[in-house]
Amino acid sequence: LGGLVTAELLSAALGNEHQITLVAPNRMFTFYPGLVQLAFGAYTIEDVRFDLQARLSELKIHFVQGNVTGIDGYDCTVDITGDDYNGTMGYDFLVLATGPKLAIDRVPGFFENSHHLLGVNPALRFGQAVQDFKGGNIVLGLCPDAKLPVAVCETAFALANRFEMEMAAEDVNIRVIFPDSLESAFGGAQFSAQLEKAFSKHGINVLYDIPISEVTPSEVDSSKGHRIGYDYADAYAAISGPRDVQDSGSRR
Ligand SMILES: Cc1cc2nc3c(=O)[nH]c(=O)nc-3n(C[C@H](O)[C@H](O)[C@H](O)COP(=O)(O)OP(=O)(O)OC[C@H]3O[C@@H](n4cnc5c(N)ncnc54)[C@H](O)[C@@H]3O)c2cc1C
Repeated sequence: LGGLVTAELLSAALGNEHQITLVAPNRMFTFYPGLVQLAFGAYTIEDVRFDLQARLSELKIHFVQGNVTGIDGYDCTVDITGDDYNGTMGYDFLVLATGPKLAIDRVPGFFENSHHLLGVNPALRFGQAVQDFKGGNIVLGLCPDAKLPVAVCETAFALANRFEMEMAAEDVNIRVIFPDSLESAFGGAQFSAQLEKAFSKHGINVLYDIPISEVTPSEVDSSKGHRIGYDYADAYAAISGPRDVQDSGSRR
């Protein structure tokens, strides 16, 4: 995202005597912030994914599909490995926008047992699971050291809208869990009171101080001993374990 925006802005600002090259391993660009809307049917795949090469060639930006495997800051070269290009490319200016590295392996069972929004296909699978959901306990969580509370909250509100009637009838229960406080999830931002109010208004239960350590086929476990059940069946899952879990949002 950062690399693409930078390339587009540079292309608008610089004259034709400059050559801009964007290197990325995937030819298809996915706009991650649109994946919640994709899962809930507000966006189509075409709204959130497009062909980088086609877009960049319109802007006269050279696209190279490949991985940067080395950088030589003295000779001003990068090593690239890929189908399009295999070798060393010189540069005058280098912009690095390699993004975050996921640490999903720190939470065993994450990929096997939970839905997530880390790509178009997982988002579509999640959307299908929402459509198929017949009632019960939904748990959304932010893993320890994760930096994306907005997508978690956005998804919780989208689910609350989708299941508004079922929640009123107590057929669906939504819990959102954070590893620490709401303030620390948002990097110290001072709007937790408003956010808590919004969660409460939508009947979403918010649980704090639950650092997720594992996702099993039936529950989310924390390193502090919590075991929070979730299900796709008709029954509510119980919260059990050595520690009691305090709900801070309104309970319905
Ligand atoms: C479901 C979801 C919702 C989100 N919602 C929001 C939101 O509402 N607002 C918001 O601000 N953010 C949101 N985000 C986060 C946002 O998508 C990321 O912060 C943003 O994509 C990070 O941009 P980036 O350029 O740093 O990294 P990325 O977009 O991850 O781009 C990094 C690129 O570098 C490439 N790369 C890595 N290593 C190499 C290498 N060695 N050689 C070549 N290429 C390499 C990667 O393949 C990737 O294409 C959301 C994310 C998700 C998953």
